[in-house]
Amino acid sequence: NYAVGIDIGGTKTALGLISSDGQVLTKTSLTTDLSLQPSDMVDKIAEAAFRLLSDEGLQQADLKGMGIGAPGPLNTKLGQIAEPPNLRNWWNFPIIHSFKRHFQVPIVLENDATAAALAEKWTGAAKAADHFIYITISTGIGAGIYSHGRLITGATGNAGDIGHMVIDPSRGLCNCGQRGCFEFIASGTAIAREASSLLGRRVTSKEVFELALSGQDPVMERLVNRVFGYIGTGCVTLINTFDPELLVIGGGVSQVGAPLFEAIRDYIKLHALNPSGRNTPVVPAALQQNAGLIGAAALIHTHY
Ligand code: ADP
Ligand code: ZN
Repeated sequence: NYAVGIDIGGTKTALGLISSDGQVLTKTSLTTDLSLQPSDMVDKIAEAAFRLLSDEGLQQADLKGMGIGAPGPLNTKLGQIAEPPNLRNWWNFPIIHSFKRHFQVPIVLENDATAAALAEKWTGAAKAADHFIYITISTGIGAGIYSHGRLITGATGNAGDIGHMVIDPSRGLCNCGQRGCFEFIASGTAIAREASSLLGRRVTSKEVFELALSGQDPVMERLVNRVFGYIGTGCVTLINTFDPELLVIGGGVSQVGAPLFEAIRDYIKLHALNPSGRNTPVVPAALQQNAGLIGAAALIHTHY
């Protein structure tokens, strides 16, 4: 009783066979080749999925379904990718219809951060929570919102796109046309961009945190503290809006670990409006790089 979980990203696509108790039986990944037509890319993903099945001595009839997590904006009502900035040639692509050419099983599509939140609920850091928010701070910033024991997906699957919540309009123009969006000023991409311009050489966000947290570079230290403040601001707005009992933070930037988590907790303690919100636990994601495909499979295996 397996589901295929597929996590489509701007650079790579991960897929796996996931059992009904959330275990990854087998997985693989492919480069998301943006020079291919999306339907040709779907053919390659389907071929990889059939190979995973046959390697395990399974066939399509052993599948309960297929779940797909993809970057937003998308339209889950229509089963389509909408306009994700990092999948330009996939715009308006009817992805479910395309996979149905290969798989005659139920196929479900959700936003990748929403799927990752469901994974954390199913087998990760949020198993016991009825109200929590999963936040990913990576190339961009996104969230999955789980409230009253279910996912909040919105009308078209785009709920939780917090990357374009305005945090500080004085900090420059985002590609969406607004100023000071959360991901424009606090994502891994933003941190690297800002630091590179301050230092006059290219640095990664990982190097920025190393320089700042070792106390070697006061300019990087100020930058990192400012970013911690932005992330805290985003978290407080989510706490004030949804009153969650838990925040789960994942994505590449969450690898920074304790200094990041402590800064977020301190900020929340000072600024969350409701007294119980001030002590909201903030914990690292448990599943990290598997969250996407486990979450995609959870769309099939769980009621959400
Ligand atoms: P994706 O966005 O493709 O899902 P990740 O979740 O790995 O990928 O996020 C990548 C971003 O996280 C990049 O901006 C990268 O610089 C940053 N990042 C990765 N590891 C670390 C780290 N240890 N410390 C700080 N930033 C990191
Ligand atoms: Zn924006």
